[in-house]
Amino acid sequence: MIARTSNSPHVLIIGGGLAGLSLAHGLKKNDIPFTIVDRETSPRGRNWGVTLSWGHAQLEKLLPKDLWANLQQCQPDSSLNVKTSEKQCILVRDGATGETLNAAPFPGIRRLQIQKTKKNWARGLDIQYGKKLVDIETLEDENDNDHRVLAKFEDGTSIAASVIVGADGGVSNVRRWLLGEELAAQEILPYTFMNFSFTLPADKALWLDHEMNPNVDVAPHPKSMYMGIFLLDKPDLEKPETWVFYILTTWPDDNSLEQDETSADRLRRLRRQMEGWADPYKTIVKLLPDDVEIAKNQLRIWHTRPWDNHGARVTLAGDAAHSMTFHRGQGGNLAIRDADEFVNCMIAVRNGTKTLNEAVAEYDRGVVERGQEVAISKEQTKAFHDYENFLNSPVVKMGIKPSAK
Ligand SMILES: Cc1cc2nc3c(=O)[nH]c(=O)nc-3n(C[C@H](O)[C@H](O)[C@H](O)COP(=O)(O)OP(=O)(O)OC[C@H]3O[C@@H](n4cnc5c(N)ncnc54)[C@H](O)[C@@H]3O)c2cc1C
Repeated sequence: MIARTSNSPHVLIIGGGLAGLSLAHGLKKNDIPFTIVDRETSPRGRNWGVTLSWGHAQLEKLLPKDLWANLQQCQPDSSLNVKTSEKQCILVRDGATGETLNAAPFPGIRRLQIQKTKKNWARGLDIQYGKKLVDIETLEDENDNDHRVLAKFEDGTSIAASVIVGADGGVSNVRRWLLGEELAAQEILPYTFMNFSFTLPADKALWLDHEMNPNVDVAPHPKSMYMGIFLLDKPDLEKPETWVFYILTTWPDDNSLEQDETSADRLRRLRRQMEGWADPYKTIVKLLPDDVEIAKNQLRIWHTRPWDNHGARVTLAGDAAHSMTFHRGQGGNLAIRDADEFVNCMIAVRNGTKTLNEAVAEYDRGVVERGQEVAISKEQTKAFHDYENFLNSPVVKMGIKPSAK
């Protein structure tokens, strides 16, 4: 239990993803009272990997020492020491020849596997699972610091707080409450998008693991197509046949993938696209088991716009505030940056150097500014499908540094 000081706001975090969990740890570290809830009944669900690059600096401030020291456990390959790895870069290959187009060095860069990260970072937090936010009510008694806003959940319960942070992901309910359905709606980009995992026979898994860059290994192809192959997990280091990899691939179209009926249709569609690809991409798609599960998917973004925070009662963080395409590799790092900025603002309130109104308004301005990455991610998506101009794209020109200071 955290001791209250007279100025301490009580923060209610909706969502236990990268944004919500890192925020919760940062508040805990600074003795600022909070509650964190998630609609899931336990940390599970979809799984993917995130490249942690410049976000390391903020994350070290937010996490307790033991979790920070054990970050390697959150990696898809928890045996990989990023400090001694010789492949500390982001590798972009030419999809047609396999040759390196760009290999921007980034010391210390690492992958985080979302499920392992959620599981590890849940340690030391009292997360209330099974709480799906369905509505918010503002309360008017300015003198009751802990009861300025009320979050209502699907199970009929509610929680009062000083301020709510909607860290509830790309289709955020909190964002919809703040802005209404129309303004909060995501844009669906006109691409076929496949994101699916698979295993391989042991010898092929060893080959791919050796062939791939462990951070990012992606390629644009002259036929207007993008593909990346990533490691998701090594459940048994001694048994390569258990290693899980995944493919992310996109190409422009009008989302006709939606019309495909089955996973097998999608695999056939992908195989038809693979003519002219170099290895490892070509061989890996050939090796995919016929029953590999390829779900329907869409590439969605939300263009950040300012919101009325209702007198510093409700704000957003992470994908809820700026959902972008993975082609730019910024969303996770920005989620952690949001958490760090919000903690800084709450420290200022607790110390009496800012009012809650001033602090949340300042935080909101920063989030909205960081939201410019959404448009850059859209530009990067386009660039990955414009082979001739790829070398002028944001990832090549700006690297993986964020655009906002
Ligand atoms: C395939 C892929 C690759 C990516 N690659 C990279 C990369 O290389 N680098 C990078 O920086 N970023 C990358 N990203 C983006 C990154 O993963 C996200 O930006 C980041 O995980 C967002 O974290 P979040 O906490 O904001 O949202 P989420 O991870 O979506 O978490 C939201 C949480 O809120 C909960 N929730 C949702 N609705 C409610 C509700 N109504 N009530 C209560 N709880 C709710 C959910 O259960 C969930 O736990 C990638 C994303 C994808 C999909």
